[in-house]
Order: sequence, then C-alpha cells, then structure tokens
Amino acid sequence: MLDSLFTWLLLPVGLAFGWALGRKSAAGQVPPEPQRTIQPEQLGGLLTQLASDDPDQAIAALTQVAEIDESTVELHMTLGNLFRKRGEMDRALRIHEALLARPGLDADTRAQVRRELAYDFLRAGVMDHAEEQFEQLVSDGYYVGESLDQIRIIFEQGRDWEHAIAAARRLEGAQGESRRALIAQYACEMADEALRAKDVEQALRQVRRAIDEDTDCVRAYLQLGAIEEGRERYAAAAQAYLRAFQLDQRFLPDVIEPLFRCSQKTGSEEGYLQFLADAKEISSSSLPYVAEARLLADEGMDPLDRLAQGLEVRPSRAVLAEFLEVLEKQPGVIAAGLDKPAASLRQALRRLMESTPRYQCSNCGFSPRQQFWQCPSCKRWGSITPIDEAMRLPGA
Ligand SMILES: [Zn+2]
Repeated sequence: MLDSLFTWLLLPVGLAFGWALGRKSAAGQVPPEPQRTIQPEQLGGLLTQLASDDPDQAIAALTQVAEIDESTVELHMTLGNLFRKRGEMDRALRIHEALLARPGLDADTRAQVRRELAYDFLRAGVMDHAEEQFEQLVSDGYYVGESLDQIRIIFEQGRDWEHAIAAARRLEGAQGESRRALIAQYACEMADEALRAKDVEQALRQVRRAIDEDTDCVRAYLQLGAIEEGRERYAAAAQAYLRAFQLDQRFLPDVIEPLFRCSQKTGSEEGYLQFLADAKEISSSSLPYVAEARLLADEGMDPLDRLAQGLEVRPSRAVLAEFLEVLEKQPGVIAAGLDKPAASLRQALRRLMESTPRYQCSNCGFSPRQQFWQCPSCKRWGSITPIDEAMRLPGA
C-alpha cells in the first residue's frame, strides 16, 4: 500500500521534472537532448487521468510539484482547474489570478489563463467578473466566439434580455451565423414580462419585434393570438393562431381550443370546420375528430359515428376516451348494463392521459407536463413541442 502510494505521489513529480528539463534544454541553458521526457500537453492529460481516480491525492502531489518548480505555468493551470472541478473556488481563483499577474507571460498563455479565470468566476457565481474576463478575451481577439456566447448566457441567466440580444448580435457578427430565432425568443420573453405587468402595448411591440426577427416564430404567433383575443379582436386572434399551426402542425393541441373560442365570438363556424378539415389532412392528430364530434353533439346530433371513424383512422387515447363517454350514454348500452364498465375504462384512460407528459424536447427528450420555451434540461430554445397525442393503441 505504502509502496504504491509512494510511486503514485512521485510519478507526477518525475513527469514534471522530466518536462522541466526538456524546457530548459529548449531554451539552450543545458545541452540539447534528443527527446523530451514528456510534452506539457501529455503531462496535463496524465494528471487529469490520475485526478479522475483520486483527485485528493492528485492535488496533494501537484501542490508539491508546484512548490518545487514555480515556473511551470501549465502545471499551475492544471492544478487550478482541478480545484475548480472540486468546487474549491477560492483556491482555483487564487492560482489563476496569481498566474495572470505574472510578468512575461506570452499572449497565448495569458489568454489561456484568463479563460480559466473567467470559468472560475462563472462557477463561483461572480457573473460581472466572469463577463469582464470574457470581454477582455474578445478585445484581445482570443476565444472570441466562445467568450461572446458565454457573455450571452450570463445575460440570459440574469434575464437581462436586451443585453442578451446585444450579445447574440455580436455573436452573429463574429461567427457569421444567424441568431435571429434566438433573438426572437428573447423578445417573446420580454413580451411575457410585459403581459405579467399588464402592459399590453409593450407586449405587442415585443411580439412584433420577435416576428420581425424570425417570421417562423410559433411562440410569437401564439402570444399574438392570446393578446388579440384578450383585446377582443377575435378575427385577428384566429389569424395568429392559424399562422402558428401552419408554421408547426405539432402545436395543434395548443390552438384547437382557442380557435374554437374565436369562431364562437366571430360566428364563423364554417371557418372553424374548414380548419378542422384541413387539420385532418395535414396533421396526424386525432384531435380534429374529437372536436368535430363535440360540435355535432352541441347541435343535438349523435357523434358516435364520427368518433368511430376517428378511432379507425387515428386511434388514440383521446378519441377512445371520447368514444367511451358517448357510448356509455347510449340507451342500448345502458339496457345491457355495459355503461358502468365503459365509464370505468374511460376514467382509467383519462387518468392515464393526465399522468402522461404533454410536451417533449426534440433535442434531449425531456418530457414536461407544461410548455417551456427554453428546455430546463438542455437549455435549448424553442425545442419543446406538444407531443402528438395520436398514440397508437396497443395492437392497433
Ligand atoms: Zn432539451
């Protein structure tokens, strides 16, 4: 045990000395050797590997080496990064700050150390200091894309949307890649905040800004629909909801009810029926059959055939639950004593539907019950959509 510990502790010391000798020979202070014992990048890799087995001992060993040879920047960086990984932020910051303060660092190394320091501040939650270091990297022309993206994330986490938009635009400029869909999401966030503050005009301005940035922004059209509906401008609201559905048919569950409400207000039932007919054509959802059946029932007609048709074409829990609900009220079914089993089955189905996630992230698969416009799991924007509820029945 002691033997192996001794070997283990001495290993990095040996590596570091070997490497230090190699450095000196390169500088011409001692006769050149044919080959370095170890390259600095190999040293980092080896130490990381050792640290993954036992970070405590790796740090103890590294600290000893660092005390012996203060000139090795890479060694100190590795040590600082290990402290950060362990969450010992005071020590990580102290090491990286001391490194950065060293005179004579070349520009590349200085930028590397500054980058590590910026991540230390991020991890420690000192966001303004992290931003400052990333800004300095951008000014110095190092890690520009990465730094601008980190600045954007800092403002995003602080819900400072205007600054996040400014950072996204700088990122566009630096990388030549459109961030307009993201900027539209930030504008939608501001629209939501304005709505919570009951500032409808500001909400409208932000929604229009979102649409100007990204004409395919489903979220902005859903918001526009809700705002117009709130202002009792039902035709405009219906138009916005329809646009959201045209942009992404997966949002049918989110627009089918609002469109029904708007058609009631404008008296344009034909328009709604046409929407349902179109939705049956272009989406794979069974919801249009359920909606048509409800309309028939409202008009005093028997919806059972329409639901049976839906079950045949788009079998789903939603359409089956609706079918059972209508079936259990049929006089023949009641007479045969089958209404109670049908009701039990319907209740079980509804419970199952209530416990099933309604949304899913197309990037990471996270499945929440409610809509999030930024995935809480993978942090991607606009990747969570309603799950197509037309789930196949077992055996169908
Ligand atoms: Zn996700």
